Amino acid sequence: MDEISPSANLLIPVGELLAGESGKSKVCYLQQESIVLTEDTKAEVSGKITLTKTAKDAVIARGQFRAEITAPCARCLDEAHLSLNLNLEQEYEVSPPADEEVLPIFEGKVNLEKAIYRETLVNLPVKILCQENCRGICAGCGVNLNREKCRCKKSAGENRE
Ligand SMILES: [Zn+2]
Ligand SMILES: [Zn+2]
Repeated sequence: MDEISPSANLLIPVGELLAGESGKSKVCYLQQESIVLTEDTKAEVSGKITLTKTAKDAVIARGQFRAEITAPCARCLDEAHLSLNLNLEQEYEVSPPADEEVLPIFEGKVNLEKAIYRETLVNLPVKILCQENCRGICAGCGVNLNREKCRCKKSAGENRE
């Protein structure tokens, strides 16, 4: 999996939280933070995530977010849009165990992007379409059938129009 450099707004300092009592929390508001999911699939993420200190050197991020996905349509390759409303629950520890579900607290910060990235990718449909009844691209003449008529019949002299 590619390493992604997180947007500054998704790197949340938790030094103060960790210095406080267990149960102490702080709220982070995300507003249209850009995340790259795959080479051609992007998301703008908005939401409210609460970070709570659970133990010494451990924090949990919980909340809900909305990911506005932009990706090429699986049939016609035009830009397609999709909104997902998702829940986040991610544990962070200063020295996480070999359990890969727990993410590290690195230099006093938690990386929400990594958690949001995982959750969004897992919930991404296999095929994203620009519209439910997208007609795709003609394998014969290559036109986008949503916008143009297939030219195959004309060239074959079977024009029924
Ligand atoms: Zn399409
Ligand atoms: Zn055609």
